[in-house]
Amino acid sequence: MLTDQLADLGVQVWRPCRLTGLSRTADGVRAQVDGAELRARYVVGADGLHSTVRQAAGIGFTGPSDEESFVLADVRVHSVLPRDEAALFLARPGPLVWAPLPDGVVRIVAAVPTAPAEPDAAYLQALLDERGPARRPDRVTEVLWGSRFRVRHRIADTFRAGSVLLAGDAGHVHSPAGGQGMNLGICDAVALGTAVADVLDGGPETALDEYNARQRPMAEDVLSFAAGLTRLATTSPSRRPARDVLLRLLGAVPPARRRIALRLSGLSHREPTTD
Ligand SMILES: Cc1cc2nc3c(=O)[nH]c(=O)nc-3n(C[C@H](O)[C@H](O)[C@H](O)COP(=O)(O)OP(=O)(O)OC[C@H]3O[C@@H](n4cnc5c(N)ncnc54)[C@H](O)[C@@H]3O)c2cc1C
Repeated sequence: MLTDQLADLGVQVWRPCRLTGLSRTADGVRAQVDGAELRARYVVGADGLHSTVRQAAGIGFTGPSDEESFVLADVRVHSVLPRDEAALFLARPGPLVWAPLPDGVVRIVAAVPTAPAEPDAAYLQALLDERGPARRPDRVTEVLWGSRFRVRHRIADTFRAGSVLLAGDAGHVHSPAGGQGMNLGICDAVALGTAVADVLDGGPETALDEYNARQRPMAEDVLSFAAGLTRLATTSPSRRPARDVLLRLLGAVPPARRRIALRLSGLSHREPTTD
C-alpha cells in the first residue's frame, strides 16, 4: 500500500538494493548502492538494528550490557483462552504472552534463558503447561513457524549528524515488552518526513535538529518504559505477591487503565489536538 502511494506521488522505490558505503561531502552525502554512486543532500538510515548508515556515520549505539532472550512461535492450539484479546502470564519461571492473530493462529512469546533455534510443538507445549492458564486443556496442534531472539537496549548517541539522519531501529532497540518498537519507528518516520519536506521546501535546517531533540527523548522514555515492564515481569519471587496486588489495583482504577492503554498504544506521545 505504501509503495503504491509513493508511486502515485511520483517516488520511485528500488528494491532490493544494498547500501555498502557512505561518506559525507561538503554539501551532503555520497552513497554506494549496488555498485552505483549516488549523491544526495540527506540520507535517512532506516536500516534497522545493524544500520550501515549509523556505523558509516560513526554514530555510537550504546546501552546496558545485559541481554534478554526470547522464544517466539505462531501456533494452532486447542485452548480455553480468548481469541479476541492478548493475555500476559506472569508465571514463576518467566512471562509468557498469548497473542491471537487472524485465522485461528496464536503467537506465543516467552522470555527464556536459552531456546532451541526452531522450537517444536513439544517445546511450546511444555512452555504452555508450565506458564499458561491453570484451566485445561491447552494443546498445541501445529507450529507454523518459530524462532528465538536476543534483545539489548540500545540508543544512538544522536539521530542527526549533519546530513545523516536515523529513524526506527537504526536509532533505538529495546525489549518487545509493551510492543513499542515499530510504533516508535513510525512516529520517527512521520516526524522526520515532515521535517525533511520542510527543509527541502526552503525551511530552516533547524527542523532537523528539532527532530533529534524531540524524538530521541521519546525513544529514551520508551526504552525505560520497556525496561520497567521487563523488570516487572521478571521480578524476584519474594516481590511477586506485591507486584500482583499492585497490578490488580491498577487494573481496577479507570484513569490508571487508560494511562497504561495510551502508553502501550504509543498514543501518549501524540501532540495534543484541539478537535
Ligand atoms: C519478537 C518481536 C516482537 C515485536 N513486537 C512488536 C510489537 O508488538 N509492536 C511494535 O511496535 N514493535 C514490535 N517489535 C519491534 C519491531 O519489529 C521493530 O521495531 C521494527 O520492525 C523496526 O522497523 P525498522 O524499519 O526500523 O527496521 P527493520 O524492520 O529492521 O528494517 C530495516 C530494513 O533495512 C534493510 N537494510 C538493512 N541494511 C541495509 C543496507 N545496507 N542496504 C539496504 N537495506 C538495508 C533491511 O533489509 C530491512 O528491510 C517487535 C520486535 C520483535 C523482535
